Amino acid sequence: MRKVGLAGWIEKDKPVAGPFDAIVEPLALAPCTSDIHTVYEGAMGEKTDLILGHEAVGRVVEVGSEVKYIQPGDRVVVPAITPEWRSVEIQNGVPAQHSEGMLTGWKFSNIKDGVFAEFFHVNDADMNLAKMPDTITLEQAAMMPDMMTTGFHGAELADVQYGASVAVIGIGPVGLMAVAASALRGAGRIYAVGSRPRCVELAMEYGATDSINYRKGDIVEQIIAANKGEVDHVIVAGGNEDVMQQAVKMLKPGGTIGNINYFGTNEIIPIPRLAWGSGMAHKTIRGGLCPGGRGRMERMIALVVNGRVDPSKMVTHTFKGLEGVETGLELMRNKPAEVIKPVVLV
Ligand code: NAD
Ligand code: ZN
Repeated sequence: MRKVGLAGWIEKDKPVAGPFDAIVEPLALAPCTSDIHTVYEGAMGEKTDLILGHEAVGRVVEVGSEVKYIQPGDRVVVPAITPEWRSVEIQNGVPAQHSEGMLTGWKFSNIKDGVFAEFFHVNDADMNLAKMPDTITLEQAAMMPDMMTTGFHGAELADVQYGASVAVIGIGPVGLMAVAASALRGAGRIYAVGSRPRCVELAMEYGATDSINYRKGDIVEQIIAANKGEVDHVIVAGGNEDVMQQAVKMLKPGGTIGNINYFGTNEIIPIPRLAWGSGMAHKTIRGGLCPGGRGRMERMIALVVNGRVDPSKMVTHTFKGLEGVETGLELMRNKPAEVIKPVVLV
């Protein structure tokens, strides 16, 4: 990111590892919708000459003097969110929200250089890097740092219960993983709200029971009709502030909305008063940044190793070589209908 609105290449010094850190070279990288928000929409404010990228699988090339578990040569899954685990804020139980301010557990391509580089720096390596087993593919591993953990967090935030009804609004890669997570948590009925045929097909594969097309009429009406009433949980994974209103309207009193979507416009996100019981309907709205860290990545790995979910089904485009990041980023910017998620095999 040269500045807001301009992406390009830049030569920088190789990063240096502090005592708890590691230097990693990428094996696989995934350009993300969030990179587009950052560079083309200024989502994180003006940044100049910042290396983009926060989704990586890599090989460790160097570790600091206090790093014990991770060794040079290890293949690792690198979470997008890399908290400082030795900080007091962690003890509040929300590691993604950090000492340097809101959302600063997210360091790559936000408050320090990201992973789209020949080498990148990882803080607190032993607590943030998960060893990648040989039994999973780079494509599978590359979906873990953000897409899987975020989608799964949507289901956690919405507190999806077994047998319950869930609407997932937006079925890009994050929403698709929210569908898979809802199915794994035992949801009864899962409404996948989307329009692109490839995403709808995959949502059904990941466990959706119904597909709802937002281009074919009001989704609140469609879902309430199909469900014979409001749903227990809504996961918001796409769209603008209007979807939050729809989410409140389609939610049962006592239900929970889990938002993982990035809202990039308007200062205020409106909540419809009557649908919210004038504030008294016990409808809960929770929103969060994806959890990172080694333990979380090890759980994502366990899900894939044991065949619970195959996130590589979302990989629609593969590019070779670091230069492929540029093509991948352009693809995410233009997002033709057939794209779900690109991966760059470095
Ligand atoms: P994406 O753009 O691939 O997917 C979003 C989908 O929502 C698209 O398919 C789009 O067509 C669909 N959509 C748009 N308007 C809609 C509407 N009105 N109703 C239903 N669907 C609609 O993006 P993604 O990579 O899947 O990420 C989804 C969101 O999550 C983005 O806003 C992204 O910035 C955010 N995100 C958040 C975190 C986090 O930690 N919370 C992490 C990664 C991404
Ligand atoms: Zn991402």
